[in-house]
Amino acid sequence: MPTMVLTLIPPYEGKRVLELGAIISRFTDELAQKAGEVIVLDFIEIAIKKKIEDGSVDLIFSNWLLMYLSDKEIFQECQTCDASGKSFELTMVCCKCIVAYVKNKKNQNQIYWIWQKVSMENDKDFRRFLNNVQYKSNGILRYECVVGQGYVSPRGFETTKEFVAKMELKLGQKVLDVDCGIGGGDFYMAETFDVHVVGIDLLVNMMSFAFERAIGLNCSVEFEVADCTTNTYPDNSFDVIYSSATIFHIQDKPALFKTFFKWLKPGGRVLITDYCKSDETPSPLFAEVIKQRGYDIHDVQAYEQMLKDAGFEDVIAEDRIDQFVKA
Ligand code: SAH
Repeated sequence: MPTMVLTLIPPYEGKRVLELGAIISRFTDELAQKAGEVIVLDFIEIAIKKKIEDGSVDLIFSNWLLMYLSDKEIFQECQTCDASGKSFELTMVCCKCIVAYVKNKKNQNQIYWIWQKVSMENDKDFRRFLNNVQYKSNGILRYECVVGQGYVSPRGFETTKEFVAKMELKLGQKVLDVDCGIGGGDFYMAETFDVHVVGIDLLVNMMSFAFERAIGLNCSVEFEVADCTTNTYPDNSFDVIYSSATIFHIQDKPALFKTFFKWLKPGGRVLITDYCKSDETPSPLFAEVIKQRGYDIHDVQAYEQMLKDAGFEDVIAEDRIDQFVKA
């Protein structure tokens, strides 16, 4: 049996692996069985001075190392240029609780990260825009202050309770929260109905708050930094898919809804709340906001049709504007 943490890392067969902080490592032998080469490095001066050629390593692995480093050492910007002047940066592609700990010990705080060196030209501008403009950390806290603890969308706890009740969650079911923000809805579902919730969100800023809020809670929630338009799950993975005030960010809704349909078990349900518009032309101010933020907003009937086209039956599409104005 491979050591569990080594099942989480990207494939490294035949690759050049650098193992950091490895002086008494339990992993070196196992890495060496599959890797083409393992370079073992520890933080003693002589090892630090050992020269690793730029661009020469496929995978850097370390386990339980960050706790020995200061925030400054971990969080400094990490960018580099190659000989031709092309710039690269490290981007987080995965940040996830280790599911075995969540399921067996209700501990969401064993987390692993995967970062990838990407060309800065190819980096997703949308993610950057959301992280640096709309959902900066202080912006998230401001949203939360206005709408209620644990949420960044306008509905409040009572509305959440009402909507979640519609899903008729049952003990042990598996729920996917498509784009969970700071996780308030996930904690509520897992604590109240004893379901297992997978919360995904595109932004590290959001997830950092979610991970922080999970500390000390005794419920089954796992979080992952992921793009819902490209993330994959096996067919028939979830009993329920829930999404609150998020899908207006997604351009290709028909494709997303078809994916939801596949991810759901037979009889599974999806519950979406989102910003919609009437069929009137938006006011100039609203039109400007839609354009500047790249929102993709439809009327309620168009939503209903997209869900039916994706294969869903018994679709109920409701305009709840009056309730939301009051909330
Ligand atoms: N559902 C939460 C958050 C709503 S804010 C709540 O109701 O409180 C909208 C969220 O969608 C943000 O957290 C944003 O990061 C996320 N998001 C936008 N596009 C995404 C994508 N493609 N994949 C995953 N998350 C996305």
